[in-house]
Amino acid sequence: MKQIILVKYGEIILKGLNRHAFEDLLIKNIKGALRPNKAEVWRAQATIYIDMADPAVIDDAVESLKKVFGIVAIIKAFVLSKDFEELKTQAVEALRGELESTKTFKVEAKRADKKYHMTSPEICMELGGHLYESFPGIEVDVKNPEKVVTAEVRETNIYVYCKREKGLGGMPVGSNSKGMLLLSGGIDSPVAGYMCAKRGLGLESVHFFSHPYTSQRAKDKVLTLAKLLGKYTGGMKVHIVPFTDIQLAIKEKCPSDQLTIIMRRFMMAIAEKVAQNNGAKALVTGESIGQVASQTVEAMYVTNEIVKMPVFRPVIGMDKEEIITIARKIDTFETSTLPYEDCCTIFTPRHPLTKPKLDKIKQSEKLLEFDRLVDEAVAGVEVVEV
Ligand code: ATP
Ligand code: MG
Repeated sequence: MKQIILVKYGEIILKGLNRHAFEDLLIKNIKGALRPNKAEVWRAQATIYIDMADPAVIDDAVESLKKVFGIVAIIKAFVLSKDFEELKTQAVEALRGELESTKTFKVEAKRADKKYHMTSPEICMELGGHLYESFPGIEVDVKNPEKVVTAEVRETNIYVYCKREKGLGGMPVGSNSKGMLLLSGGIDSPVAGYMCAKRGLGLESVHFFSHPYTSQRAKDKVLTLAKLLGKYTGGMKVHIVPFTDIQLAIKEKCPSDQLTIIMRRFMMAIAEKVAQNNGAKALVTGESIGQVASQTVEAMYVTNEIVKMPVFRPVIGMDKEEIITIARKIDTFETSTLPYEDCCTIFTPRHPLTKPKLDKIKQSEKLLEFDRLVDEAVAGVEVVEV
């Protein structure tokens, strides 16, 4: 029996965006998430309908939709007749798997088609009565039923279903401009990206790569993370920045305890340029207060000083355990914990400053050609689309 997918989105998230722009963007993101499977997607009365060309992939489609921000509920519904006698027979067939071993149920009716000849209470009574007679041993319980059978009366059909799955919520990716995520191979930055995407921020990412000090495997790991995160953001462009020359220059010219903080200022400055060149309006990092030496408030003050763009740090107040819980949920944890070295770990000084002073750091940077190094790095960016 034919099934389609109904997608529900909350009214609250329409705030700030006009409704049609919101729905159009959500439909675009849904189509992207369903690819390469073909589907007809349309909307009517605060519901998005998805009719998969190949019915065999409907469950895969539901799984993909669970990664689309802006969706509140996903429903696999049977497409039944508006002729009520026909509907009753079809509903018994359609719901057999669900109701055969069920003890209690009730019927709820939604009449989106206000011209339909029966009222909602009539539909509940009639359909409920027929299901009650068709399944021996089943009882009606309007207060606390094991299963709720919903019948939505719409333009051309009545849609009947028992189950609704929770969507991710949030806002459609792209509804709130674009950010540039500083994506390392660690646990925190993919989670940070996920959290900003949840609020509708489109994402591209920048990764600092120190060939030959970091291996191809380390780069592949980051690309895998970008791909996993891209399931939530409709793909991901990764800007890979050659970082070796900068790290070697800092190591050669600056005091070793300042190495990390100066390196982080370079990262921010380069990320901001890459963001500007690609229409992103904010930077996103996976920093969390006090997690490492470079994430003390003093260190972040100095790091932040080099850029004008807002820097979003959505995991700033989270403990590692809380970040890991999300990393597991979004499926990046395993990849993040692969052992390949990161560009930072190799150049990390033994005693990094935890309370750097801005004027001292600026003085050290005078020993370097800061702007030239930034421009060269930006010019050497390799773009990979995953
Ligand atoms: P993560 O788990 O995300 O790697 P971390 O705890 O290792 O974070 P740091 O190494 O201090 O912390 O990095 C802080 C943030 O700086 C990261 O969350 C990330 O946003 C950014 N970052 C660090 N290294 C890189 C890199 N090689 N390329 C891009 N961004 C980086
Ligand atoms: Mg890291």
